[in-house]
Amino acid sequence: MAQHFLLTAKARSLSLRSIFAAGEEAAFKTFCTVRWQETDGEPVCPKCGCLDAYKITTRRKFKCKNAGCYHQFSPTSGTIFASRKMAYVDLLAAICIVVNGVKGVSALQLARDIDCQHKTAFVMCHKLREAMAAEIAGATLEGTVEVDGAYVGGYVKPANHKHNRVDRRLAQNQSGKRRVVVIARQRKGRTITTVTKTEADGVAFVKAVVAASATVHADEASHWDALHAKFRTMRINHSEAYSKNGACTNQAESFLSRLRKMVEGQHHHVSPQHLHQYATHAAWCEDHRREDNGQLCHRALGLALAHPVSRAWKGYWQRNN
Ligand SMILES: [Zn+2]
Repeated sequence: MAQHFLLTAKARSLSLRSIFAAGEEAAFKTFCTVRWQETDGEPVCPKCGCLDAYKITTRRKFKCKNAGCYHQFSPTSGTIFASRKMAYVDLLAAICIVVNGVKGVSALQLARDIDCQHKTAFVMCHKLREAMAAEIAGATLEGTVEVDGAYVGGYVKPANHKHNRVDRRLAQNQSGKRRVVVIARQRKGRTITTVTKTEADGVAFVKAVVAASATVHADEASHWDALHAKFRTMRINHSEAYSKNGACTNQAESFLSRLRKMVEGQHHHVSPQHLHQYATHAAWCEDHRREDNGQLCHRALGLALAHPVSRAWKGYWQRNN
């Protein structure tokens, strides 16, 4: 049997040791190269687009040479990592740690690994997730697409004594924080997710992100019946089999399994308003699972440095104390 990809030497092309051994200046140069790919890492003023800049070597910054601009900037200016206080080498190491976690990494663990505040790690990870989401923004799925949904979160603690316990299956005994992650996954293609209150709400999402020419595979849940009107649809009854007559949603299930393990095993608790970010992260991990960790780190950094300042995450802790 072929060796599992993650066990091969090929899967490990970047180590934390090499990031720290190369140091701050090398990390800074990596940021420059990834930010300004068209100019081979030579700075481009984010204000006026001028290609000439003074190097302020001591502060690892640039100053635009264009008279009337003289804007001072760094490779993270205007990106999702703008106003970063973390050293470049630590930020690069943090990204490496995040992409090394095939089920993600909790903010607390990351904070311990790179010795920063939990708040810093929490926001950094969410900024990365927002940038990851941009990779598939506006994408349409074609060919064969599997759809499915799963309930996540909304834990209600059971009472201690048996006679005090309530039936947690009933709506009135739930926390109201339970959400459904609905997923549409193209075979040999991308994974797109959304978060809704019921799986039936996911029908509109599937209609929006899947091309009419696609063949959609779904399970026996009755709300998916509505898909037959728009798509060639194959159904699989999971109480009978997981794959029958060519119909299966195993790849969609595989994503949901990764998401469940991410939430239960890493984060333990996720709030409903951020659930879509974790779903995006799991989808990104799923879609790039065969890439080595150097490629993943480069990809994640590239997405972050191509992404503008985040409206949701800039100053998050100033607004949410
Ligand atoms: Zn300028």
